[in-house]
Amino acid sequence: MINKLTLIALLILIPCVGLFARSEDQPRLYLSNYTFPASGGNIGMIKVRGRDANIKSVSIKGNNVGLQRKGKNFWLTERRRSENSAALWVDVVVKATTDAGVLTDTFRIVKDEFVHNSVIAHRGAWKNTGAAENSIASLQHAVQLGCAGSEFDVHMSADSLLFIHHDPKIDNTTIEKTPSGELSQIKLANGEPLPQLCSYLEEGMKQNKTRLILEIKASVISKERSISLTRKVLEEVRKYHAEGWVDYISFDYDVCKEVLHLAPYAKVSYLNGDRSPEELAKEHFYGLDYHYSVLQKHPEWIQMAKKNKVSVNVWTVNDESLMDWLLGEKVDFITTNEPELLFRKLGR
Ligand code: MG
Repeated sequence: MINKLTLIALLILIPCVGLFARSEDQPRLYLSNYTFPASGGNIGMIKVRGRDANIKSVSIKGNNVGLQRKGKNFWLTERRRSENSAALWVDVVVKATTDAGVLTDTFRIVKDEFVHNSVIAHRGAWKNTGAAENSIASLQHAVQLGCAGSEFDVHMSADSLLFIHHDPKIDNTTIEKTPSGELSQIKLANGEPLPQLCSYLEEGMKQNKTRLILEIKASVISKERSISLTRKVLEEVRKYHAEGWVDYISFDYDVCKEVLHLAPYAKVSYLNGDRSPEELAKEHFYGLDYHYSVLQKHPEWIQMAKKNKVSVNVWTVNDESLMDWLLGEKVDFITTNEPELLFRKLGR
């Protein structure tokens, strides 16, 4: 009798749980990589996120992209050398029949001409260019300089729109407690309106040399709000098909973990300096991104990171002797307010 009742209760409850499941946990297709590899060949594996689901068959629509089955896995491949095309990216529509139903999505694959140097412009290149920090102009200057990455900071308004700014407040206005209409009236020192993430992504996606290093700022109100900001950011990146351009950083470990949960392909680096490279490697982080004083205290972490295939980025390094030390240690990236100085040190 109890078993029968339990069964009836489960039959009632299971569809309800389904109804209230978080939309971000619904099964969804993603790729293991969103760039054309410089050497040609495989682009990325087609995967399903949100539920364990096998892919049974796949069809695709899009130029320059092919499909290959390897065992149980389906791969997007480069059909023609991407150098043949002037386009920075191609769009491909993937339709997959899976255990969780038929799933369709459009993916933007960017030609991988991203530059390989160690220079990350901190809040864009603003200090020596006259641009306001975290402005669209500071991003444009970082691209013109040829930086490997341009860093910027994201907060969420009271009505859940995403704005770019370093501090939680601008002109005594707390971004999180202010509606977007009011925030949009604020002008930066160079006359630009306070940028929204969508404008930043649109500007960054006009090129394929400098990566967008997106810092998700922890909420000053609650952890829940930090997580909902993280989900909004990922939603926006997905909506603009910017996956191939964006890397993520945050001081909040839970935020980093949420990015990895929602976007398992993403390159995520942790800022707070309190986890060893081994711990980060176990959690599938792309890198550590620590203050230089952390690495002065733990110089062994640089080699430990290399051994564990965790990239090393160091902030915010504006001093020549610190740059010399870190270049000597062959760290992967140096985040600086002085990208011009770092380029001179690199012989440019
Ligand atoms: Mg930052």
